[in-house]
Amino acid sequence: MSASNIETICTVCNHHHLNLPDTITCNRCNAALKPVDGYLVNPVKDLDIHASSNSGVWKYRDLYPGFIENSPVQITLGEQTTPILELTKWGGKIQLPGLITKLESVQPTGSFKDRGAAVMLSWINHYGHNYVIEDSSGNAGASLAAYAARASIKTTIFAPQSTSNAKADQIRSYGANLVEVKGGRKTAADAALQQVLSSQSHYASHALHPLFVSGMASFLLELHMQLGEMPDHLICPVGNGSLILGSYAAANMLINTGRSAQPMPRLHCIQSKACAPIVTAYKSRSTLPATVNPRDSIATGLSVSSPKRGPEVLAAIYGSQGVAISVKEDEIMKASSEISSMEGVYLEPSASVAFAGLKHLAKNGVISKNDLTVIVSSGHGLKSFGYR
Ligand SMILES: [Zn+2]
Repeated sequence: MSASNIETICTVCNHHHLNLPDTITCNRCNAALKPVDGYLVNPVKDLDIHASSNSGVWKYRDLYPGFIENSPVQITLGEQTTPILELTKWGGKIQLPGLITKLESVQPTGSFKDRGAAVMLSWINHYGHNYVIEDSSGNAGASLAAYAARASIKTTIFAPQSTSNAKADQIRSYGANLVEVKGGRKTAADAALQQVLSSQSHYASHALHPLFVSGMASFLLELHMQLGEMPDHLICPVGNGSLILGSYAAANMLINTGRSAQPMPRLHCIQSKACAPIVTAYKSRSTLPATVNPRDSIATGLSVSSPKRGPEVLAAIYGSQGVAISVKEDEIMKASSEISSMEGVYLEPSASVAFAGLKHLAKNGVISKNDLTVIVSSGHGLKSFGYR
């Protein structure tokens, strides 16, 4: 890695880029890029990765590519270590009485995306970009818009028309220009890239920017610190899959540097049946996401029919002995009501997808009651207020 930028390699054709391009995709084949040295760097054994006086995502800033060399200013909204909570009652109902959730819903904008957005936006701000463009179904757009507002960076978000009113209002409230696009996520992504190519702007795509994944890796580093050990299972709702990717990178680092003598946690992927390119691929043990035609779903945050990092996500699932399953709309609604009424944890449907999936994993024996199981509460219920 150079002292000034991030060296990347294409995840498909292996083309090497000395500097992360503005379009943040491979300039030969347009695929996603990953840092040459990994999503986490400098993980020397004698560095106490939990010792920093920083909180939340910033506790691990020295591990993000380019951060030690460049010392970018932290664009922060006061991120904290998110709480872990035992779900004794609901866990008991599904025969997992020791079940733990990590409440990412209390992040500054109400979703786990703040980890990636904080790190990515700090890097973009360091490089002097003053106009960013992103495509999102809501949470990532809201997160980017908030951090960009904090850094006085102009923002345009392209979102499908299915984006919830609450998320659209949140994005606009931060001063971002929200462009609602007829069609799905892919149409929004295409429109965003066209705008990047025709304007003096930077593509701040949460699906593609490598530092977004680096920020998401802080989730498992923080969880490991809180538990004092590695979980046996981690249950994630998956759209683009940045949480699974970040967690895989973090777990590999903890194991490879001897910080954990435990095996890799099994990283399980849950999607809605309405849009399940990863689950469909998993069923045939494919290494590439399946081509799917997404249907309408209340889990709008997971309606990603062509996940840009799909091959990496599948590799993380296979590499961790995880499984991938999909759930029906009524199962999502039921799990959402149960978690809220039994545990007081109010989640948006895209987050409840993971809980609906966990019921299947417990029932079919993938997870047993003595396993240390953690499920992510990825987004706050207020994000989808009014969908019932
Ligand atoms: Zn390439």
